[in-house]
Amino acid sequence: MRTLIFLLCLLYYCRYDNQAELQKKDLSYFVSHLSSDSFGGRESGTNDAIKTANFLASTYQAYHLYPPFEGRKYQQTFSLRKLATAGKMTSLRWKPIGTLPSHTDKYLTGKKLLPFPFAKGGRVQAKAVFMGYCIRSKKRNDFLKVNLRGKIAICLRYGPGGPKNQMYRRHMPFIVKYRRIKEAGAAGVIFLGEQNKTKPKLKAFIPSLEEGPLAVFTDANLFNHIHLSNQNIGKILGNATLQTSFHYKNLKGQNVAAFLKPYHKGQKIIVLGAHYDHIGKERFNIQRQAEKIYNGADDNASGTAAVLELARFFKGKEEKTSNWIRNSHNILFINFDGEEYGLLGSWEFVRSSSFPIEDMITMINLDMIGRLRPKKGLNIQGAMTANQVWKELIQSCFHKAGFPSHTKLNLISGGIGPSDHTPFYKKKIPIAFFNTGIHSQYHKPEDDFELIRIEGLYQITYMVQLLVQEVLNLDQPLRFRPSLTKKN
Ligand SMILES: [Zn+2]
Repeated sequence: MRTLIFLLCLLYYCRYDNQAELQKKDLSYFVSHLSSDSFGGRESGTNDAIKTANFLASTYQAYHLYPPFEGRKYQQTFSLRKLATAGKMTSLRWKPIGTLPSHTDKYLTGKKLLPFPFAKGGRVQAKAVFMGYCIRSKKRNDFLKVNLRGKIAICLRYGPGGPKNQMYRRHMPFIVKYRRIKEAGAAGVIFLGEQNKTKPKLKAFIPSLEEGPLAVFTDANLFNHIHLSNQNIGKILGNATLQTSFHYKNLKGQNVAAFLKPYHKGQKIIVLGAHYDHIGKERFNIQRQAEKIYNGADDNASGTAAVLELARFFKGKEEKTSNWIRNSHNILFINFDGEEYGLLGSWEFVRSSSFPIEDMITMINLDMIGRLRPKKGLNIQGAMTANQVWKELIQSCFHKAGFPSHTKLNLISGGIGPSDHTPFYKKKIPIAFFNTGIHSQYHKPEDDFELIRIEGLYQITYMVQLLVQEVLNLDQPLRFRPSLTKKN
């Protein structure tokens, strides 16, 4: 498969080999390809992410760019996050109060019982209290008048009115309820499911190795003899012994990158980056939809496509015009993994960099640049993270890029934001973070290719091309300046 992708890439490259300009059709091809179902939503740590990384690496290879990582690799592998699977020592012993004859039910991990990795495993034995939906909001407080300290909470799923009741939606996720329960000092929690309804998936939860109440999910019919209504909140229903255990697996992430030219020590580097990971297939969600793929066309196939196209363009330019780029300078094209889990790939790159951080003259981050709406405009953060010339260059390139005349340019103060430029800014590198803003398909399965505005994507990519050229031409490198975010 890898070879096939590579060959296709090669064919693709040859088709456009002679194109001296940025190509809209390339951008369009890359966005539609990366956001197609065959990449499965590109979730970090999955085979879909590996497939994406291989595609990116083969593209750079086909463009004859230079692998920057140890062992002449385009990929930098790092440990991404832990994935928990249920250990054998997960069980629930249940002894109801007030039934005759007295009996104990025992459930083992498997069909009827699932441990949640919100805390590391352990064993507790305690009285179990019915807590309604375990919701604490302005409208409803199931915790009022109940002393949960040292006890095990029993929570119904969702909230009053079912999973679609907007009023409680923010309070329905297991982790939200879990935090409330932890704050109340409980020793454990039993989340109840409903029989024949979708069950949560363990892999959807990022495990914590901290101490905390033990948590299990069960759809066993523990309480069919009790009416679980509001009036019974606070009632002790039985004695429970909870035991949870987990196996942890380390998921691997991969940044993919390439140099425009062979790297020499001391070269000044422009970093041109975009994360390629997204959030994969349907995670556990409270609406019980059928499986859907989060294709992330805007977030961030759009930025990834721009980086690939700029790589192709600059390579072509470099081959045709010798000395176009000084020997002392280089461009690093990089596609980060693990962004959606918290900028893991960019932090890894910055921390482990094989190239001196101080040689990076700027980092340009493209994240969600596929929805340019002239009225809302183009957002660029970071124009004030270097001496004045940086802002002037950004403004002049914006005017040269050919945006429709009424397109707004929104310069955002600060250097810290929810994307991969942040680690670079923290390392005192001037940054520019391009994006076209949030929309109602953000982090939803509907963020698809059909909604991408190719014309705008092209203009932004062209603006970045101009900006890179300007930075390469500077006699004095940009000088970092801290820039504070204005709070409004
Ligand atoms: Zn993003």
